[in-house]
Amino acid sequence: MASDTVLIIGGGPAGLEAARLVGDLGAKAVVIEKRDHLGGTPIAENYAALTHGFRDAEEAMDEMMRGVTHHPNVEARLGWEVAASEGNAGDFKVTVAKSGNGASEVLNAGAVIIATGFQHFDPGRETQMYGYYEYDDVITLADAEHMLKHHKFVKPSNGQAPERVCFIQCVGSRDRQIGNEYCSKVCCGISSKQAIEIRQQVPGAKVFIFYIDMRMYGYWENEIYWPAQEKYHVQYVKGIITEIIRKGDRLLVRGEDTTMGRPMEVPMDIVVLAVGMEPSRGTKDVAQIFGLKQNKYKFIEVPHDALDPTATSVPGIFVAGAAAGPKDLDDSIGMAGAAAAKAVALVRRLAKVTA
Ligand SMILES: Cc1cc2nc3c(=O)[nH]c(=O)nc-3n(C[C@H](O)[C@H](O)[C@H](O)COP(=O)(O)OP(=O)(O)OC[C@H]3O[C@@H](n4cnc5c(N)ncnc54)[C@H](O)[C@@H]3O)c2cc1C
Ligand code: SF4
Repeated sequence: MASDTVLIIGGGPAGLEAARLVGDLGAKAVVIEKRDHLGGTPIAENYAALTHGFRDAEEAMDEMMRGVTHHPNVEARLGWEVAASEGNAGDFKVTVAKSGNGASEVLNAGAVIIATGFQHFDPGRETQMYGYYEYDDVITLADAEHMLKHHKFVKPSNGQAPERVCFIQCVGSRDRQIGNEYCSKVCCGISSKQAIEIRQQVPGAKVFIFYIDMRMYGYWENEIYWPAQEKYHVQYVKGIITEIIRKGDRLLVRGEDTTMGRPMEVPMDIVVLAVGMEPSRGTKDVAQIFGLKQNKYKFIEVPHDALDPTATSVPGIFVAGAAAGPKDLDDSIGMAGAAAAKAVALVRRLAKVTA
């Protein structure tokens, strides 16, 4: 018997949007989230403000979460993960397990949407000598979000306000040696957004962005990139940074200014590594459980790409958000809407056939 339930795995921005829309379309949605809270990476990693408009991340995500937790057609289960799956489109039998207490249950679903997201690149794997685990004042974009959220953008080593801050772009992305040749799409925009926030919170600090080339698409250009330069006087330097060493109580950033074609050595108080996106552990696990093809970077493969961006290699299973590759919120949420509509259309069609 075909089931009209759509099972959504992952309660981040993409999963929340998919669940709300499935519910709004009058079908039943069940969201499984392995953490003990909804909201995905923006909540788990304490992001400060989200684009567009620098809206408080917690407030924006709370609104998304309420759209699901107060929805009569949506059930959200926290602390649950998928353990096994069998069956086909219209009639999947998915075993879900509650973390910690060993309880498990079999859910019947007509379609599944994978929204298991991404994780930040671990800068310990970087082949350049950036010293993330060595120097307290070398941090990541995620660490910076946390500090900006609490209005405490200070040198971790001594708690003092920084005078000089820089960002290093493409850490863990566009790097053939590591095997991540892809561009993570969002880190140029997020670095520029954070540069503005640093200038707002610590107006005395000089802020630099060292980049290979800046990749700003859509609104990031007008809303963030140009204001960062023109209003907040952030300095963009085309260059390659190869090494960070400690000098006194500062960091010495070494590399090459590629516009001027000469070596550079600049002292900084805080260095922010613009770490890229990799598939989350959950994305890799779920791909195995459902037998989904993954691309060479282990994101879930979308066979038809531009023409059917939410399809996977298994009929009845759709994908949304960063589980399919680096994405900003607009793209994750747009993709979730399409996945929800396709999943509901499928379960309705199959219900008619078997009625
Ligand atoms: C530092 C930083 C700042 C950012 N700021 C912005 C911004 O300002 N604007 C913007 O547009 N984008 C921003 N982004 C990008 C944004 O975070 C992503 O677009 C968005 O989080 C993708 O949503 P998602 O739901 O696909 O994935 P995620 O947010 O990663 O959510 C996935 C969810 O799935 C859950 N999950 C994983 N595996 C399982 C499993 N096996 N079972 C059950 N649940 C599982 C996870 O616990 C998580 O809750 C930022 C990214 C970074 C790195
Ligand atoms: S978005 Fe920018 S920082 Fe991120 S990988 Fe692409 S070019 Fe590099």
